[in-house]
Amino acid sequence: MGQLFAKLLGIFGNREHKVIIIGLDNAGKTTILYQFLMNEVVHTSPTIGSNVEEIVLRKTHFLMWDIGGQETLRSTWNTYYSNTEDLRNAAVLIFANKQDIKNSMSTSEISNFLTLSSIKDHPWHIQGCCALTGEGLPAGLEWMISRVGAK
Ligand code: GDP
Repeated sequence: MGQLFAKLLGIFGNREHKVIIIGLDNAGKTTILYQFLMNEVVHTSPTIGSNVEEIVLRKTHFLMWDIGGQETLRSTWNTYYSNTEDLRNAAVLIFANKQDIKNSMSTSEISNFLTLSSIKDHPWHIQGCCALTGEGLPAGLEWMISRVGAK
């Protein structure tokens, strides 16, 4: 009985959240996703589709859709939005990748450039990172977890 109860709790404790990854070609999206998949604290399911991966951290599931950034595909973006989640409650995490490159823009420069402070209706966060080494990625993941209320 206790086991069954634990199992049920496990089921209800597992929460799935949809993540839509967008960014310019060559920004490092695939490398970032690969780093998450290689990280031993993050459990993953077998690849679900060519551009969908699931990662699980502390019982929180993130179903990550990499929908690329090519302009030709932009008209299809809203298909993903309506299929994956209601964006009203979405949080926005910006990875300022390639921080290892000399003269790359800092997170505050990017914030100013994109006027991120004008985003008032969604929680947002900019995280510097280097996908090659993985630096900054756990911090980004922690922010995602903090947003969905999991501890
Ligand atoms: P995507 O098109 O957004 O999926 O980009 P990729 O993940 O394929 O990365 C594009 C290129 O940038 C590859 O050659 C990566 O090795 C390189 N790259 C990705 N992240 C970094 C980074 O943090 N620093 C540097 N120097 N190169 C990176």
